[in-house]
Amino acid sequence: MDDHSRQSFLNPQLDRAMKACKVGVIGLSGGGSHIVTQLAHYGFDRYVLCDPKTTERKHLHRMLGATIADAEASAPKVEVMERLIRGLRPHPEIQAFKGEWISCAAALKDCDVLFAAVDTVGARRDIEQFARKYAIALIDVGMDVSRANDGGYRVAGRVFASLPGGPCMQCAGFINNDMLAKEAAAYGMAGIRPQVVSVNGVVASAAVLYAIDLLTGKTGKVALPCFITFDAGSMTMGPHPYLSVVTSPCECFSSSEIGDARFVPIG
Ligand SMILES: [Zn+2]
Repeated sequence: MDDHSRQSFLNPQLDRAMKACKVGVIGLSGGGSHIVTQLAHYGFDRYVLCDPKTTERKHLHRMLGATIADAEASAPKVEVMERLIRGLRPHPEIQAFKGEWISCAAALKDCDVLFAAVDTVGARRDIEQFARKYAIALIDVGMDVSRANDGGYRVAGRVFASLPGGPCMQCAGFINNDMLAKEAAAYGMAGIRPQVVSVNGVVASAAVLYAIDLLTGKTGKVALPCFITFDAGSMTMGPHPYLSVVTSPCECFSSSEIGDARFVPIG
């Protein structure tokens, strides 16, 4: 028997939402493992999990739920996450796919909320296009490490909620054609993408809170910013400055790209 008494203040609809809603998580390492863990602790019961990779030693620094034994056995990440959910939920419905997200598109299009924790700009763009096609709320998380002027490093995390009809990643300035072109030109030379477990935890927490708000109308009165940034150096989190330049509704998608039953990825 579930005991949600300590989180029932969030909204009486939460229990119903967690049983009915299907959540998709694309990418299960850095941010994705935090998201799955939190969703399971909340009490969500319906999942689509997607990641093509197996667990390695290097993932143990950032992937919640993964163990040394998983790394030694090269356990698929989807299996690690499925085990974690089953350890917390008595009767979950889990569709787990060891493969690229597009290979499980048929399952993902039935989700009510999609979380994306992927490595590339191109994947973000394609997943957003897919989410718009099927009118699914998409919440993307990620983090960046860059050189600061003082020679140190700037560590930042971000959350982008791409909602049907709301600002998309392109019109909010999160991704652009220049980034896509540079990424395409550097294909195969991306190098190591730094990950910090605690920064992933911060942005994943914000992403899950955003989803809870969407599913239950918890706040109801205040529209949450769709683009949130976290600066680890100053310990500040808030609306991304880019949002201030978004003045009109998203017109980046044609009518044929929204609400059709067929989806053809760009990339
Ligand atoms: Zn747009």
